[in-house]
Parts: sequence; C-alpha cells; structure tokens
Amino acid sequence: MTEFNIKILEELCNAFGPSGFEWEVQVKLKEYVQPFADEILQDRTGTLIFTSKGDIEGPKIMIAGHVDEVGFQVSSITKEGFLKFHQLGGWWDQTLLSQRVVVRTSEGKLIPGIISAKPPHVVDAEERKKIVTKDNMFIDIGCASKAEAEELGIKIGDPMMPDSKFEIWNRTRIKKKDDEIVERKDVTLAVGKAFDDRMGAVITAEVIRKIKEENISHPNVVYGAATVQEEIGLRGAKTAAQMIKPDIGIVVEVDIAGDVPGIDESKAPTKMGKGPSIMTYELAMIPNPRYRDFVIKTAEELGIPLQLSLMTGGATDAGPIHLTELGCPSIVIGVPTRHIHAHNGIIDLKDVDNAAKLILELIRRLDKETVESFTKI
Ligand SMILES: [Zn+2]
Repeated sequence: MTEFNIKILEELCNAFGPSGFEWEVQVKLKEYVQPFADEILQDRTGTLIFTSKGDIEGPKIMIAGHVDEVGFQVSSITKEGFLKFHQLGGWWDQTLLSQRVVVRTSEGKLIPGIISAKPPHVVDAEERKKIVTKDNMFIDIGCASKAEAEELGIKIGDPMMPDSKFEIWNRTRIKKKDDEIVERKDVTLAVGKAFDDRMGAVITAEVIRKIKEENISHPNVVYGAATVQEEIGLRGAKTAAQMIKPDIGIVVEVDIAGDVPGIDESKAPTKMGKGPSIMTYELAMIPNPRYRDFVIKTAEELGIPLQLSLMTGGATDAGPIHLTELGCPSIVIGVPTRHIHAHNGIIDLKDVDNAAKLILELIRRLDKETVESFTKI
C-alpha cells in the first residue's frame, strides 16, 4: 500500500511531454494540484510553481521535479516516407532499435512509428558486429512517400516520445536461510516511461496536497516547481529559481539503481527498494554539508532508510537552483530507478512514499534559524 496517488503518477507518466513540449503534462498536473495550492505561478518557459504558505512566512523552500522526458524530434522526412530524427536528452543507441515511438503533429495528431535500421540479413559479418548508431536509424511510420507522411501532418521539428504504458508489477521479496524461507515481503513496482522525472513532479505535487489536506503546520513558504527542459540543459529550473529566489532547495529526481548485473558499486551505490537516496555529489552541485547532514539525521529519526549516493555522470536542477542570487543550499533526494533514459524504467513505490514522507518532515523542521545555520561561518 502506498500513501501517494498512484493514479496521478500513471496519468502523468503516460502523458506526452518531451523537453520543450510539456504542455499536456502541465495541464494535467495543474488540474490535480490546483485545489491544494495557495497560489499557482508560472514563468515563461512553461514551468509551473505551486505555493503553500506556512503559519509564518519564513524561508522560501523550493522543491523541484522536472516534467519533461527524453524524446526525439523529426529532423527530415526521406523521399520514401521514413523519418530521420535527433534526440532531446540523452539516449543510448543500444536502447533504440525496434522500439515504438509516437510522433505528435502540430495539429495534435499522434502517429505511431518504429525505430529501425537495415536488417542484419543484408549486412556482412564484419558490419554486423558493429553498433548501429542513431544516424543510421530511421523511423518507419508505414508511409511509402514523403507526400504521404506530409499528408499525415508530419513536419520537421515535430516531437516524439517513447511509446510505452505504465504498469504495476506486484512481487514478493523472499529471504532464505539454509533453504528455509525466513521472510516474505510484498512490494509494488511501477514500470513505464518518464519516471525521470514525472515521479519527482508527482512527489512535489503530493507534498503540496498533503500540507493542505492534513493541515500540516510549518514556518516556511513552500514553492513546488514542476520544471521543464531539464534533460536539455536544466533550463526551466533556472528561470523558476530566478523568479522564486529560494532560501533553500530540494530537488526530487531519479537516481541510478546500481542493483543490475555488471555495475561497479562505486559508480551507482543505491538499490531499488532500499529507500530514497541523498546525492552527496552530482556534476552540477555538491550539497551544503550541514544541510546534507540535517537531512540524513531527519531520516534516521523518522526511521526512513536513506541511501548515500553520488552521480558522477549527470547533473540535476539543483545546479541552477543552488546558484540563485547569493546561493541557495540545495539537496537532491533520489528514488533509485532501473533503466532510466529508456522506454521502460522500474521503481519501487515504497521508495517514492518514503521520499515524500522525508520531504514533508524537512518542511516541518526547516525554519529561519536552521536555514541560516547551514551557511554561517
Ligand atoms: Zn531527471
């Protein structure tokens, strides 16, 4: 059982929203959070900000989750009616062949397609050993000419998202000792696209909802930001932070679950289902050590398992947020996620629940004096 709204996670993850084309997601999110927010602000990149005022107007806490997902754009239409494409965000060539995508035309029509390349039967043995790169792939939309594709409404620049649907997988974790089962624990996994980072946007939304519904008192002003264009350079967080001018930041993101075969633990130390993580380093930010330790202590006191993590190969919205004006101490709370930047990721919903709980408690505990203590020399 989870306490957050799985339905809204499903709806947002299935929605269309590659970087720069997040409208549909934002409309759904706004509709959901509206009843719980004191005010809804927006910048001119498309980032939405839901505010929740505490008992006194103390420090401004910015919580951010990005709503864009990795996707593609049409770069040309061949005379035979195939689409060439470029990526929005980072895609690994190996994850792409034979995957389904959906193109959205400017009229809003959704056209399915399959990423493909010339078949292995026609390439020689030497070439077959090589990786097929994106430049040598195309998208088959079933058309036989450029005119046919154009008649469907497809143009250069049209965005595409991975075509995959949200699912719930129920599993039972089993612990064995001397061939005897000594423990059974039911877990609920979510499988689908765009957990990076609709999951973070949903946690942000749920925090705003809970403050209202459970009448949680706190001495701060919370700004829950659903940022845009993170995957192409942390863009929406930059404008949103300039607008909010936060005193303290919390970014909710996917973390790389290192519990799949072949991973060196020093590169990805977190495991799915073992609790949310706190990033001790990411490419664009090193968290303020006092703030980081405050979060670790809060989790300990709450009995929430918290994994220590680091991400040497990626940056988050905490980059621009922590550099707002004179600086804004920030942390990244992660949810270990398998197979990010692919058609299907996996998360354990218990980790999502615990991340939301931890953030709510941080909002309760942070106040003017505590926030100031993080940076006093
Ligand atoms: Zn992300």
